[in-house]
Amino acid sequence: MEPLTNLAECTPDELEAAVAAIGAPRFHARQIYRWIHRRGVDRFEDMTDLPRDLRAELGARFRVETPRIAADATSSDGTRKLALALADGRQIEAVFIPDTPSMTFCISTQVGCAMACDFCLTGKMGLVRNLTAGEIVGQVRVLAKATGLLGEPFNIVLMGMGEPLHNYDATMQAIRMLHEPDGLALSPKRITLSTVGIVPALERLAAEPLMPNLAVSLHATTEEMRTRLVPPNKRYSLHDILDVCRRFPVRHRSRITFEYVMLDGVNDTPEDAKRLVTLLDGIKAKVNLIPLNPAPGIPYERPSDDRVDRFAGILADRGLTVMVRKSRGRDIRAACGQLIVEGGTKKSAAQVMANLIR
Ligand code: SF4
Repeated sequence: MEPLTNLAECTPDELEAAVAAIGAPRFHARQIYRWIHRRGVDRFEDMTDLPRDLRAELGARFRVETPRIAADATSSDGTRKLALALADGRQIEAVFIPDTPSMTFCISTQVGCAMACDFCLTGKMGLVRNLTAGEIVGQVRVLAKATGLLGEPFNIVLMGMGEPLHNYDATMQAIRMLHEPDGLALSPKRITLSTVGIVPALERLAAEPLMPNLAVSLHATTEEMRTRLVPPNKRYSLHDILDVCRRFPVRHRSRITFEYVMLDGVNDTPEDAKRLVTLLDGIKAKVNLIPLNPAPGIPYERPSDDRVDRFAGILADRGLTVMVRKSRGRDIRAACGQLIVEGGTKKSAAQVMANLIR
């Protein structure tokens, strides 16, 4: 038997076509889109403003797939990490970060990641598979319901598992679906896409009508060091990435965020700070310093607060806006670079969470 079509993957136009194909009036598509994306309802029988017959027909012909919460851990600082099971049994992680200053959801775009950054646990998993647009958007629904924020304002950062520009089409489709007026109507200004800098995809992003905020993971100030820390640098060099950034259409009063994970004695010297200032010259930039969240299997240490302050001071003295990221959720490994589902699907989420909380 053919698997039922998953309406959570559909744009409003596709939903209209699906509704029309079963002989129902097209306007019901907007109601269904609202139920799924704005109200987080995935059972047709609960879509109470649809005719009863139509609900039965929809149930027989279609399904609405929503990631299932397989484990749920809350940090002492309020950060909450959900392990989410997908329809094929794979797992991803999605994180709620309260008051930063807004409520923020950090979501994944891939199961695992192919980029293999040397300081990142997710990178150690390798790429298992891309997420679909519906799976990316589904994480937002689940987080919003779990945190009671459905209908409230929140921001989204595409900084969970995966490299969003390595799953370009599904990521952009998800951004469009989140923006739909019948869905969450989320402004792209509330969405930040974080990338290591895949140059052709960055060029493509620069021409998108619906443009999220851009965050570029820099992490080093020389080609040699960046290639060691962020292997895709071999193909898409620091020089080429910054060249695209210089031409990137940044919104009025907005800036590109450059993320810089600080590794003790590796990329945190005053010389690095001065080089960083020179590299970012001519770019509407702000810098987010992220002192490493150490983890077993990661061969780097977190620098002292003094080293971080000195580095930040050099950037600020030369006129750069700089923030030092407060690490959230370290006790549940929900912090940056700490998202991992161990062994793909081999362990249950509960086992994984138990390991992470330990
Ligand atoms: S830091 Fe980001 S891009 Fe690099 S391996 Fe980890 S998840 Fe992938």
